[in-house]
Amino acid sequence: MGPYVDSVISDEVMPAATGVVVIGGGIIGTFAALTLAGRGIQVVLCEKGYIACEQSSRNWGWCRQAGRDVREMPLIVQSLQLWRDMNVVTESDSGFRQCGVLYVGESDADEARFADWAQMAKPYDIGALIVHGAELAALMPGASRAYPCGLFVPTDGCAEPQRAVPAMAGAAQRKGAIILAHCALRGAWN
Ligand SMILES: Cc1cc2nc3c(=O)[nH]c(=O)nc-3n(C[C@H](O)[C@H](O)[C@H](O)COP(=O)(O)OP(=O)(O)OC[C@H]3O[C@@H](n4cnc5c(N)ncnc54)[C@H](O)[C@@H]3O)c2cc1C
Repeated sequence: MGPYVDSVISDEVMPAATGVVVIGGGIIGTFAALTLAGRGIQVVLCEKGYIACEQSSRNWGWCRQAGRDVREMPLIVQSLQLWRDMNVVTESDSGFRQCGVLYVGESDADEARFADWAQMAKPYDIGALIVHGAELAALMPGASRAYPCGLFVPTDGCAEPQRAVPAMAGAAQRKGAIILAHCALRGAWN
């Protein structure tokens, strides 16, 4: 069992009207609510369980550009920019730290694949580099064996899945969003 998810105290009263209703208090819905509230838009977020009770608290927490498909690059580079500002935006500890992400390779073919990827990523200026020998070993202290090559992206990071979305939810509430836990949407109508 993983660490407990930070709790978010639910609001209690559903307003008669609002600007936007967000369904689901995972990372997508909660960050949307935070963004809307930050722009002064009235928002109510309805979550059937508690905030981050599903996949958003169960992932491994990597915030990774390394190895992404070329089609994902513009979005993931922007996503990392949001993560870097997350503690300031939420005024709390999302657990984000820019620790870098390292892929290790076993063969010349792996190294060629890493080099192609680093070339593709060059216009995005994310610092991707191919590492070997002592430089690679220094990136993985305590490793039980050595590897011939690696792809390192120093601008990648990780966050704490059990803290990040609750941090966003708390910030959204402080900016005026209403967050209703244990509130399942069973239908929608005009
Ligand atoms: C720190 C962090 C790092 C991550 N790193 C990676 C990564 O490296 N690679 C990767 O692929 N992904 C990553 N992810 C993404 C993650 O694994 C999932 O893709 C993501 O959490 C899904 O978010 P979601 O909001 O779409 O869904 P969910 O977390 O599943 O949230 C949906 C919510 O909607 C609620 N809900 C559903 N139906 C209703 C209803 N009818 N009424 C009310 N509520 C409802 C559910 O209870 C749930 O809480 C990361 C996420 C985080 C937080």
